[in-house]
Amino acid sequence: MSGERFQVVIVGAGLVGAAAALVLGRQGVRVALIERQPPDVPAETWDTRIYAISPASQRFLERFGAWQRLDAQRIQPVFRMDVAGDTSGAIRLDAYEAGVSHLATIVESGRLQHALWQALQADGPSTGLGTGNVALHCPATIESIERGESRTRLTLADGTQLETELLVGADGAASRIRDWAGLGSTLTPYAQSGVVANFECEKSHRGTAFQWFFDHGILAWLPLGGPGGNQMSMVWSTPSAHADELIALDAAALAASVQAAGHDRLGALRLLTPAVAFPLRLNRVEAIVAPGVALIGDAAHGVHPLAGQGVNLGFGDAEALVEVLAAHRKNHCGDLRVLQRYARERAEPVQRMQALTHGLHHLFASEHAGWLRNTGMAWLNRLPPLKAALVREAMD
Ligand SMILES: Cc1cc2nc3c(=O)[nH]c(=O)nc-3n(C[C@H](O)[C@H](O)[C@H](O)COP(=O)(O)OP(=O)(O)OC[C@H]3O[C@@H](n4cnc5c(N)ncnc54)[C@H](O)[C@@H]3O)c2cc1C
Repeated sequence: MSGERFQVVIVGAGLVGAAAALVLGRQGVRVALIERQPPDVPAETWDTRIYAISPASQRFLERFGAWQRLDAQRIQPVFRMDVAGDTSGAIRLDAYEAGVSHLATIVESGRLQHALWQALQADGPSTGLGTGNVALHCPATIESIERGESRTRLTLADGTQLETELLVGADGAASRIRDWAGLGSTLTPYAQSGVVANFECEKSHRGTAFQWFFDHGILAWLPLGGPGGNQMSMVWSTPSAHADELIALDAAALAASVQAAGHDRLGALRLLTPAVAFPLRLNRVEAIVAPGVALIGDAAHGVHPLAGQGVNLGFGDAEALVEVLAAHRKNHCGDLRVLQRYARERAEPVQRMQALTHGLHHLFASEHAGWLRNTGMAWLNRLPPLKAALVREAMD
């Protein structure tokens, strides 16, 4: 085999792959990052894809300076979370009551991606801007992947050849690396879609996130940053036929429908961005490692967005993989025994989140569960220790 040698080659510079590359590079690991297309430069308009970043993910992003690159005017800490059934029951999770500064921070996907790329470019030897260890190949297409005795060789369409001890698939839900490595996955569609759109609201959200569990779906309103605190982002997980109906509504009718479903909690709404729908799927991956291969992010799992935890799980993967590799510096990075430590570490949090979101989806998204949904919420709201436990779960 011949080609430029790396310890780790990461395919996919989405949020998770870019973060993993940055941390590994900072630790002195020789890393190459392959991405087929650069991210869009963020526009002035607000993204409809937003994330509730947990405090644990925030700390991880702060460690390598990506968080500090975000515009403070466009991020919004969540201080309270009101979770309600469709009639009476409601739980309020409150950062102040739980003794923490905030429960999560709402961040735009495009801006976070841009911050990670700026950090990468500041670190990458290919740009000549820094002294880091990340060789970024973008735009790049993988022509072939060949497994050798102790290394994997990748050939790119421009003829570049890279050899690596460890190949990391951070290439999203339809991962080519996962397929190439023969790591099976089961996709279960939920027959639901997520409808996302941003609204201006009459009343200030004051850092509160709202979530309603209905007979046939879950509606979330997440507070957006910006002056006045009067913009929010909606994620409505609902049967696909209803999603199609929502998408077909004109701006005023959609705003009225969302306002009514959310019991007018933020007064009159005005649509800021056209609504977009995406199908919801559970993705279970049987094994996330093989000799010389590891999966992270959406390549390794897909969860229902009701807990807004997909990207937090991915950052957890990146952090765990980096830590396991750092703790076994003397080993070959593709050593299966080392990689299995990473897989074991991630099994529990990923299964817990999949079971929680899958279970909640079935428990609450049933028309026979109305009583449970409403009474259970009212009951839960009177149990401070259980609420504090829920807050801690949301913060991991
Ligand atoms: C509409 C929508 C809304 C969402 N909302 C939320 C939310 O509110 N909260 C939340 O936590 N999560 C949410 N998610 C999930 C979240 O977006 C993902 O969990 C997260 O983006 C996963 O990041 P990733 O880096 O693993 O994968 P991706 O973001 O999919 O990145 C994969 C990268 O790999 C690149 N790539 C793929 N194949 C190749 C190849 N062969 N060669 C080179 N490069 C390749 C792609 O170009 C891409 O840049 C949402 C997802 C969608 C679709």
